[in-house]
Amino acid sequence: MTASNIVELYGVTKAFGALTVLHDIDLNIVEGEILTLLGPSGCGKTTLMRIIAGFEPTTHGRVIIKGADVSNLPPDRRPVNMVFQRYALFPHLDVFDNVAFGLRLKKWPKDRIREVVRNMLQLVQLGDYGNRWIHELSGGQAQRVALARALVNSPSVLLLDEPLAALDLKIRHHMLAELKRIHQETGTTFIYVTHDQDEATILSDRIVLMNGGRIEQIGTPEEMYAHPRSLFCARFLGETNILDGAVRACESEVTYVDLGTGTVKVPTNGTALAVGQKVSLAIRPEALQVCRRAQPAATEGDANALEGTVEDVVFMGSRVLYSIRTPVETLKYQATRSVDGVMLAQGEEVRACWRPEAAVLLTH
Ligand code: ATP
Repeated sequence: MTASNIVELYGVTKAFGALTVLHDIDLNIVEGEILTLLGPSGCGKTTLMRIIAGFEPTTHGRVIIKGADVSNLPPDRRPVNMVFQRYALFPHLDVFDNVAFGLRLKKWPKDRIREVVRNMLQLVQLGDYGNRWIHELSGGQAQRVALARALVNSPSVLLLDEPLAALDLKIRHHMLAELKRIHQETGTTFIYVTHDQDEATILSDRIVLMNGGRIEQIGTPEEMYAHPRSLFCARFLGETNILDGAVRACESEVTYVDLGTGTVKVPTNGTALAVGQKVSLAIRPEALQVCRRAQPAATEGDANALEGTVEDVVFMGSRVLYSIRTPVETLKYQATRSVDGVMLAQGEEVRACWRPEAAVLLTH
């Protein structure tokens, strides 16, 4: 059976007064996936999520959930639940009653509530915390209670708006693993909002990168990292080197780009480019190969190369991060620590090489 779309957005546009913050968004969310809305502050992630949840009406466009048009339905009539950054737990209720709250509203029988809430607290690993007050919990525990409270209603879609933002880095990483486990155990579709590319990369099946109220690119974390389709995407996801140049010749397979100090080759990106057109190359720091200039080049054949000097060396344990000053750009170069401990030193004359297919050609 192929997975089907659980949420479909058609032409979703949102304006607050004169300010349009979402422009004609079309998006399908596949049942059972973790889909992350990622982008800088103010790009419209939260607004889009609130529109899916029903807290915000669209200005134009339709929201379909499980095949039904819910555009005009209030939040409590949509098969979704939302977990907020600041948990929104009831301070006058203990953990058990916070989780049971929604089920009591639905007038479930007491025994059934007890069983389901206990199971849910087990799922978020708070089995012994039912009698605790909210103020007696750590941030990570409070976030688990919020998750349990949202999941206890068995929503078809769980919306998570920066749920880990208030937690410190170590707990955040632990909670990401927990979220993945809970996602796997429940099979619920997760829509997750964050501006943190690491969180998005670790957690997501697919990432929707947003910019200025529009979708910039959609793909798996690997696709987005390896094949950014815009400068914005290349810069937003992970470290990258951007080299600006102009097209010297564009063939069906290879484009020749003049960097001002020489010409390099890059695979053609599908669009026909005019000679002289301004373009950029994006090259990940780990895609470079750097050797001492006196040595023969590490890559054979038609590798591209820039000569430079080691400007900075940062030892990070398993990795070493270098800055290589070249006449074009100061390049970031990431190497794994070599077992024999041989590292390049500050001031060394080097050559930075890369295979043509290690770079991505981007137009402006
Ligand atoms: P952040 O990561 O900072 O939460 P975001 O990507 O989630 O940002 P939104 O909160 O969706 O962005 O906001 C998008 C734009 O809409 C912003 O310019 C914001 O100021 C504006 N906006 C959001 N809600 C309202 C509102 N109720 N009234 C007016 N403008 C709003």
